[in-house]
Amino acid sequence: MAEYDPKSLKAEEFINDEEILETLKYAEENKNNTELINKILEKARPQKTATGCVCAGLTHREASVLLACDDPDVIKKIYDIAEEIKLAFYGNRIVIFAPLYLSNYCVNGCVYCPYHMKNKHIARKKLTQEEVKAEVIALQDMGHKRLAIEAGEDPVNNPIEYILDCIKTIYSVHHKNGDIRRVNVNIAATTVENYRKLKEAGIGTYILFQETYHKESYLKLHPTGPKHDYAYHTEAMDRAMEGGIDDVGLGVLFGLELYKYEFAGLIMHAEHLEAVHGVGPHTISVPRVKHADDIDPDAFDNSIDDETFAKITACIRLAVPYTGMIISTRENEQVRSKLLKLGISQVSGGSRTSVGGYTEEERPHDTEQFDVSDQRTLDEVVKWLMESGHIPSFCTACYREGRTGDRFMSLCKNGQILNCCHPNALMTLSEYLEDYASEETKKTGYALIEKELERIPKEKVREIARKNIEAIKNSDRRDFRF
Ligand code: SAM
Repeated sequence: MAEYDPKSLKAEEFINDEEILETLKYAEENKNNTELINKILEKARPQKTATGCVCAGLTHREASVLLACDDPDVIKKIYDIAEEIKLAFYGNRIVIFAPLYLSNYCVNGCVYCPYHMKNKHIARKKLTQEEVKAEVIALQDMGHKRLAIEAGEDPVNNPIEYILDCIKTIYSVHHKNGDIRRVNVNIAATTVENYRKLKEAGIGTYILFQETYHKESYLKLHPTGPKHDYAYHTEAMDRAMEGGIDDVGLGVLFGLELYKYEFAGLIMHAEHLEAVHGVGPHTISVPRVKHADDIDPDAFDNSIDDETFAKITACIRLAVPYTGMIISTRENEQVRSKLLKLGISQVSGGSRTSVGGYTEEERPHDTEQFDVSDQRTLDEVVKWLMESGHIPSFCTACYREGRTGDRFMSLCKNGQILNCCHPNALMTLSEYLEDYASEETKKTGYALIEKELERIPKEKVREIARKNIEAIKNSDRRDFRF
């Protein structure tokens, strides 16, 4: 039997079934152990330092105890600390992105995904480079600067060369004042050589959802195709890092397996990356299974309610305080509102999950990967974020300044967010307001910017930010950054 070893490069040793089962038992036994719970909560709380703030994070065992606890007072404390951590390291900024579906050709048999190979009635579509260009123009016209590209796995229709061509096309489109400045990539597990090519193409984060950490379920949920190989899929982030990509994004598709098992696996995966590569995941996504074409989410009996979903999000926030957290338009406005407080730092907006969807007048459904719950326009999402006390940020500065991997984390830990990310957020928001916003959003936005500029601690930084925002208002100069 495989032995648990977070430093191992073998999937079944760093995501060890026995260790997860023991963790769940330990969590169940200690879920009412007040003394232990208080100690864990204390450990999770941000601590002030001379230069900023630090957070110890939690081990998968500690975080699992909190997740198992049903005491409303403890849950309230977990939520409060999650908000504290979020504000300490990410401030009130929320980074905005959109998915771009390139192709839904797929040779896998994932039972929860409508792109599975046996689905003969879904329209199959792959964008040509001309169509990619048109989609990017439509996305730029909405105001997007950051994309996550999505594709099915198909070595014939969507080989790595196709993905690389698309990335090149995306970066080459400069429409009016528009630019896509960061392309994150969500494609199937691949080789070190291909990850190196993606890195050379200038990608931001490589995102790959584990779907489920439970090996037996994984094999059943992925009965055919290359994705059936549990070890190859689970070890993908190590290959990505070997290929030079130091920003990787984890995720579990909640609803497929028991959430407590998935949660422990997810935190163990983060611990493994830290132990082996010296840097944890850049982001964690928390998707839930949705209705789509021939997929009925009720067919999966591990669906979780909104309260449990919020608790999972907050416990992830406590366990991995420096990791960005993403919520997509799979969730509706109400759920997204609640989760923003508990640690989410990135949201998608104005999303279409169909291949070629952004150039269509009406939202198309024939190639959709899942139903979009939050169907508001980007302008509506931006306004909503501002009205609920957040700064929508279109910033992509860190990765373009080489602040990736642990260099981004040290910026966070040194408390430099307010002198760096905060002004960057305000300047990119001002670009959005000038070039794309409705009059009402623009008014709300500039009032917010005025107020938020005052919060920049360094006078010199504040002055430069102010000057740059004036330049954005009065000229076509764009892309200022610290
Ligand atoms: N084909 C790649 C792969 O296998 O990782 C790319 C990812 S796919 C386009 C994006 C993600 O959508 C999947 O990893 C999966 O977690 C999620 N997904 C698939 N079907 C879904 C559904 N019915 N509801 C919600 N999310 C779904």
